[in-house]
Amino acid sequence: MPLEQHFTCPLPNGVHARPASALEEVLRAFDSDVVLTNQRTSRTANSKSILSIVGADIRHADPVVFRISGPDETKAMAALTEFLHEKFPLCDQPLTTDAKPNGDLRLPPCLSHAGAVVHRGTPVVSGIARGQAVRIGKNNVDALPRNSVVDPKIEWRRLETALEKLVENYDARLARLDQGIEADLLKVHRSIARDVEFRRQLSEEIAKNQYPAAQAIASAEKHFSEMLSATDSELLRERALDVQDVCGQLLHDLYGAKAAKANTELVADSIVAAESLTPGQFLALDRNFLRGLVLGQASHTSHTVILARSFNIPTLADMENLAGLNAGEEVVVDADLGALVTRLTPAARKYYAREKQRIEARRARLQKLSAQPAATRDGHRLEVAANIATAAEAAPAFGAGAEGIGLFRTEMLFLDRTSPPDEAEQLAAYREVLAAANGRPVVFRTLDVGADKKPGYLNLPAEENPFLGCRAVRIYHEFESLFRKQIRALIRASEFGKLQVMIPFIATMDEARWVRQVIADEQKKCGAENIKFDGAMPVGAMIEVPSAAFTLEALSQEFDFFSVGSNDLLQYFMAADRMNSKLGGLYDPLQPAFLRLLKQIVDEAHARYTEVSLCGEMAGRARLIPLLAGLGFDKISASVPAIADLKAELAEVTLGGCQELVAQALRCTTAREVSERLDEFVSRRNPPLLEPELIILDSDAATKEEAIKQAADQLFILGRTENPREVEEAIWQRETSYSTGFGYGFAIPHCKNNSVQFNSMVLLKPRSPIAWNSLDGQPVRVMIMLAIRETNGDSAHMKVLARLARQVMDPHFRSQLEQETDPAKLCAILQQSFGSETPVMPQTQKS
Ligand code: PEP
Ligand code: MG
Repeated sequence: MPLEQHFTCPLPNGVHARPASALEEVLRAFDSDVVLTNQRTSRTANSKSILSIVGADIRHADPVVFRISGPDETKAMAALTEFLHEKFPLCDQPLTTDAKPNGDLRLPPCLSHAGAVVHRGTPVVSGIARGQAVRIGKNNVDALPRNSVVDPKIEWRRLETALEKLVENYDARLARLDQGIEADLLKVHRSIARDVEFRRQLSEEIAKNQYPAAQAIASAEKHFSEMLSATDSELLRERALDVQDVCGQLLHDLYGAKAAKANTELVADSIVAAESLTPGQFLALDRNFLRGLVLGQASHTSHTVILARSFNIPTLADMENLAGLNAGEEVVVDADLGALVTRLTPAARKYYAREKQRIEARRARLQKLSAQPAATRDGHRLEVAANIATAAEAAPAFGAGAEGIGLFRTEMLFLDRTSPPDEAEQLAAYREVLAAANGRPVVFRTLDVGADKKPGYLNLPAEENPFLGCRAVRIYHEFESLFRKQIRALIRASEFGKLQVMIPFIATMDEARWVRQVIADEQKKCGAENIKFDGAMPVGAMIEVPSAAFTLEALSQEFDFFSVGSNDLLQYFMAADRMNSKLGGLYDPLQPAFLRLLKQIVDEAHARYTEVSLCGEMAGRARLIPLLAGLGFDKISASVPAIADLKAELAEVTLGGCQELVAQALRCTTAREVSERLDEFVSRRNPPLLEPELIILDSDAATKEEAIKQAADQLFILGRTENPREVEEAIWQRETSYSTGFGYGFAIPHCKNNSVQFNSMVLLKPRSPIAWNSLDGQPVRVMIMLAIRETNGDSAHMKVLARLARQVMDPHFRSQLEQETDPAKLCAILQQSFGSETPVMPQTQKS
């Protein structure tokens, strides 16, 4: 009787290639047969074949039964059970798309009147890129041998050897890569190359039909592509490209240039167009020249698109008629608008030159902000550091404005391998981070494995409640030599920078004392060996187990600093699993009890003169910055992309204001009340309607279209909107029904739209007057654009507009505005003209 295991698929995207590859990876070590049946579709699959598994079309919540029979069935069952419970639910994260569906936005008038040809597509990776069009075709099987072979056995051996070499090639490439999407992808391709069903299909084609390897590969590619394409799941259909990739690679290895795909060599900035582009083809493109992608078929979840996103390559999908695209022609991929622009005219080139300026100006502004030390408006410092997991992330983190590394999760060095890194390998990785830090502090957290992160070579046993089990500091006793080796590598690295060590999951003083003793021993040994190190290397503890939060007085005798791991502390404090999305209401850092706990931790640490930081996900939410500053943390550490926003938000608040907010929050009884207090706090610090940077003097806009675009772009540059094209579209909705040319050389284009984050006014004076179809026929010398949020209702919008219109009737006001050239004074004139009616309107802020 086979052993049975029932299971319900927890993955939001179903079992596609990455989870299937992880499952196959676990089971391939056993001799027993493992067959799974998707009970929804009744499809069965060989669980040691990634192709067979994905073909079973297992979707979210599908009931699945595994049947295991063979010599090592008990062991295989134990491994499968552990994998399904602990690793499988974490195998895949929901995939995100960062661009909007096709055709949502109308073309801005500057572009639609530019005379270029615009093809619409679905934006799947946002951004704008220009380059020459390069077309890429499919595998060239027609040019390959077709005659039947004399000895099928020899032909199969030839193909089998090629398969083995291909697997070795993937292994070698994987060994050079850190974790990440490229590594995930290579693992999927390696699984296909060693897939038992794939190999069976190939060998049968040769044995039965006496096919040469080329035809067997073409036929297997067709078979598996059709099988995958026939499923209802977009994710599985996309996997056909991965099969094509492996087949293309095999053909290339066996037949060389004859099988080479159409030209993939890039020699200048290029926009690559392909009906379908396999991930391998993408990786083969020279990324020094790859600027954009246009694809016939691809969804936002295809591996090619995931790769394009991770390399920041603007991409459009669902493009029809790619055959009509002229190779070598200069084109623009505008994935913000969902457009491929060809036959560029001077006007279209001008439009995209302005787009380039817009994007660069925003980037420069953010960079300026992120390069400054993190501080509140009144100069209170709150250090903003980065969380990283690999040495390669350190340099980009500092480039993004990190003031240190507040959490280096060193366990990543220990995962996905067959043995732990030795002292030399660890030392090299730690030194790489310290070199990038260039004197700034780096906190290395010692190994935090167990729970969901179990390196196979440690053979950690399955546990009933792994998150309450043997993890982090709790396994150091058992794996003492491993821990000592890491400590020694850290001690040795301390000579090369400002290195701090942090111990995860401390719950008691016994653990603290033991760890300190080990560190002292190892320092002593290094001293005896004449190894140089920093004798004053700070050692800290993560405060992520509630008991530690109530042992701070004693712990501060053993540790030099504390860092709150809010991800874990919150889950253990609220008894709410951090992975369970149904518990979001409980697993909420705005729960007043949790804020009180944080306050107590900070106060207690400071009473013992001990620095305290926070490094959980909570630190990466810019909206919560006023709370963290007001609670008194000395430092926060967050993921790299959050850093610029955190610094920008911090610069908007004062320490006193934040402390007052915290005092209110601590008196609240529900998380909702805290959230409301936070919203009120944010709305009180709205930026003014008009500020000097919103004044554009001597503008080169020559048309109404250009002036409106320039004003909307300025809102984007200053972070008042993320969607300048939506603001522009809202302005044009009014402008096309009636002209906002007011007369006297003034125009007041306006809109009411929530794509602006703050109510805003832009004043623009063109170098030469602009025809505006005004009431009195006069061209426009002063344009005042008004963008008000919808949430303010009609009255606010109309009130500002009416007031402005009344002012423009006043000749004195008009001449003041026309003659003044100092932005600050222009602001003052407008501000004064509103007098007591200065439009300070409540606004809903970004979260
Ligand atoms: C935490 O628990 O907040 C933390 C930073 O550690 P991890 O997320 O790695 O458990
Ligand atoms: Mg933790």
